[in-house]
Amino acid sequence: MSSLRFKVVDEAIRRKALDVQLPAQRPSEYFGMYVFTQDRMRKYLPKNVYEALVDTMNNRTPLSRELAMGVAAGMKQWAMEMGATHYTHWFQPLNGGTAEKHDAFVEHDGHGGLIEEFSGKLLIQQEPDASSFPNGGIRNTFEARGYSAWDPTSPAFIVDSTLCIPTIFIAYTGEALDFKTPLLKSIAAVDKAATSVCKLFDPNVKKVTAFLGWEQEYFLVDEGLWAARPDLILTGRTLMGHESAKNQQLEDHYFGSIPTRVAAFMKELDVELLKLGIPVKTRHNEVAPNQFELAPIYEEANLANDHNLLLMSVIHRIARKHCFRCLLHEKPFKGINGSGKHNNWSLGTDTGVNLFSPGKTPKDNLLFVTFLVNTMMAVYKYNGLLKASISSATNAHRLGANEAPPAIISVFLGRQLNEVLDKIESSTSEEAIKVDDKSGFKLGIAHIPELLLDNTDRNRTSPFAFTGNRFEFRAVGSSANCGGALTVINTAVAHQLTRFRKEIDELTATHMPIEKAIFTVLKKYIKECEPIRFDGNGYSEEWKIEAAKRGLDTETSIPLIFDRFLTSESVDLFTSMNVLSEVELHARTEVDWETYTKKVQIEARVLGDLAMNHILPVASRYQSLLLDKVYKVHQIFRDGQRADMLSQRDVELIEQINDHISAIQAQVNDLVNARKVANKICGERAKAIAYHDTVVPLMDEIRYHIDKLELMVDNEMWTLPKYRELLFLK
Ligand code: ADP
Ligand code: MG
Repeated sequence: MSSLRFKVVDEAIRRKALDVQLPAQRPSEYFGMYVFTQDRMRKYLPKNVYEALVDTMNNRTPLSRELAMGVAAGMKQWAMEMGATHYTHWFQPLNGGTAEKHDAFVEHDGHGGLIEEFSGKLLIQQEPDASSFPNGGIRNTFEARGYSAWDPTSPAFIVDSTLCIPTIFIAYTGEALDFKTPLLKSIAAVDKAATSVCKLFDPNVKKVTAFLGWEQEYFLVDEGLWAARPDLILTGRTLMGHESAKNQQLEDHYFGSIPTRVAAFMKELDVELLKLGIPVKTRHNEVAPNQFELAPIYEEANLANDHNLLLMSVIHRIARKHCFRCLLHEKPFKGINGSGKHNNWSLGTDTGVNLFSPGKTPKDNLLFVTFLVNTMMAVYKYNGLLKASISSATNAHRLGANEAPPAIISVFLGRQLNEVLDKIESSTSEEAIKVDDKSGFKLGIAHIPELLLDNTDRNRTSPFAFTGNRFEFRAVGSSANCGGALTVINTAVAHQLTRFRKEIDELTATHMPIEKAIFTVLKKYIKECEPIRFDGNGYSEEWKIEAAKRGLDTETSIPLIFDRFLTSESVDLFTSMNVLSEVELHARTEVDWETYTKKVQIEARVLGDLAMNHILPVASRYQSLLLDKVYKVHQIFRDGQRADMLSQRDVELIEQINDHISAIQAQVNDLVNARKVANKICGERAKAIAYHDTVVPLMDEIRYHIDKLELMVDNEMWTLPKYRELLFLK
C-alpha cells in the first residue's frame, strides 16, 4: 500500500483551522505600521530633508548625497525603534521574484567595538554580489557588476526584523537588469506624452499618473499532500493526474462560502498585508476548486507592483503557517481553470480626472474618447508585443495551449462604446461638433452614458477589456511580475499619444479648430484600429480564424512570440520612448528564451523521474498481481476454456497496462534524447524552439499514458495524491 499518500490524506482531513486573533485596533489604525510613510518621514526627518524627499517622490528630482544622509539617519532611527536589526536593498531581478541580501546595522567603531550604522551611501547604492541573476549576457560582455539603487518613489518597509528598501538593479554600464527600471521609465514616458495631450483640453494638467489594480489568483493545497507530489514541489504544477470525477462543473466553489481553514489563512494574510501598507479589499473563492483571489484597491503603478511582489512572498509564509502551500503557477491542474493576474490599468491627472471615465460635458467626453481610442490604437499596433510581455513557459498552459483561450490580444469595449465609436466613424465633423457660443462646443455623437461602470457587459473571454473606467489586461500570468506587461502598455500608449499630439499640432497649424482636429484624427484612428475590437467569444475556434484574417498576431509558440521584442517597430518604440535600449531588449529576450528552456527542462526531468520511478514500478506491480491471478485461475480451473473465459478481462487489462508501460518507456527514452539534442544547440533562441517543438509534445504524450494508468491501477497502490485529494481536501 502507498503509505505516504494515505498518511498525508489522513493528516489533511484532520487539520483544524488555526485560531487567528485580529489586532485590537481598527484596520485604519494598523494600516501601514511597517512602512516608512510620508507621515513618518515628516516625523523622523529634518524639515529640509523631508521637503526635498517629497519633491523627489512627486517630481523625480534627483536627491543629493547629503540629503540622502539625512534620510538614511531618520529611516534607521525609525526602523530600529520598530525592532529592525538588518536592512536590505529589495530588487526585482529578471527571474521573476524579488531578491534581498540582509546586512546588519553594524559597523566597526574604530575602537575594537561595533556601532549601529546605516549611511546615506548604503541607502542610495549598493553592489550586491548578484552575479548569478539572469542578465542575458550584458554582464559577461562588459565584465561589469550589478548595482542596486534606491527608488525613493516607493517607501521602505519592514519585514520581520529587516528594513527593506525598494531599489532598481542595473549593470555598471547602466543597462537595466530588473523589471522596475523600465517600468519607472515607462511611467515617466506615459506621463510626459499624456500630459501633453491633456494640455489640449486643460492647460492646468501638469502630471498624469498610471494606476494599477491587480487581482491575484492562487491555489491552496494542503502541505502534506503537496509534499507527496514531487512535481508540485519542483515545478509548481502537476505534471500528471487524471481529472477528478467532480471538478468545477457545478460551479459550486465560485463565490461560495470560504472553507474555515482557508478563512483563517485569509484573515491573517489580510492583517499582515494591511500592516505592510497594502490596501487589500477583496477576497473570495475563484472558479476552480481550491482556487482563490485577492485584490487590493488600485494604486500608483510602481507602488502597486511592489505591493504585488511583496504579496507574492508574504502569501507563501502565511500559507505555510496554516499548513497550506500556495500555488502561484498559471496552470497547476489540468482540466480546470488556471490562475491569472488581471491588471486593471488606468491613467489619471493631477487635477483629479480619470482619463478613462466618461465625463459630464462634451469636452470631458472628447477627452475620454481621445484616451480610449489612442489606447486601442496602441494595443492594435503592438498586439504581438503585448502578447510577448505576458508570455512564459508557465503562462503558455493558460494561453494558447489545449483547453486554454487562444493567444490573441483583442480589445473588448461593450455594446454602448462600440456604438459611440461607430457613430464617430460615420459622422462628419460638422455633424459631430456643433460649436455654440455658451458652452464652447457640443458633441453631436451618441450620448456617452455616465455610469458605464455598472453596465459594461463583462466579457470574461477578452484578454484586454474595457471595464467602465479602466482597461483590464487579463492575460497576465499569476506568477508574473506585472512590470513586464505594464512597461509595454505604458510605452505603447506613450508612443501613440506622442504621435497623436503631433498630428493635432500639424492640423491646428493649418488653422483648423482644435476640436475639429481632434475629431478628424480620432475618426481616422477608429477606422485604422478596427481589427482589434472584438466582443465575441475569445475562446472560440472561429475567433482564431477571424483574428488571422484581421492580421492580428496569432502565433502560439512561446519562443517565437519572444521575437516580437526585437522587431524594428519594437526597437523603435522602446528606444524612442527612452524605456529600453536595443542592447537591453536583446539581453532581456535572451533571458526569456533561457528561462523558457530551463523551465521545460526541469519539468521534463521531473516527469521522466516520476514516470520511471513512481508510475512504472506501481503499474508493473499491479500488472504482476493480475498475472498471478490469471496463473492461479488456470491452476484451479483445469478446463482451459473455462479458465480462459474467467480470466479474459484480466488478460485484457494486463495487455492494456502493458501497452501504456511500453509507450511510457519508449517516450521517456525519446524525451531524454530530445533533450540531449536540444542541449547541444548553440544559441538560446534555437534551443528554446527545440524544447518547444520536440520536448513539450513528448511530455503531453507521456502524461496521457500515465493518466490512463491511474484509472487502471489499484487505488491502494498509487503513490501520488490524486486530483480529488489535492483539490477537495481543505
Ligand atoms: P472584478 O473581479 O469585477 O474585475 P475586482 O473588484 O475584483 O473586480 O477588482 C477590480 C480591481 O480594479 C481592484 O483592484 C480595483 O481597485 C481596481 N480598479 C478600480 N478602478 C480602477 C481604476 N480606475 N484604475 C485602476 N484600477 C482600478
Ligand atoms: Mg477583474
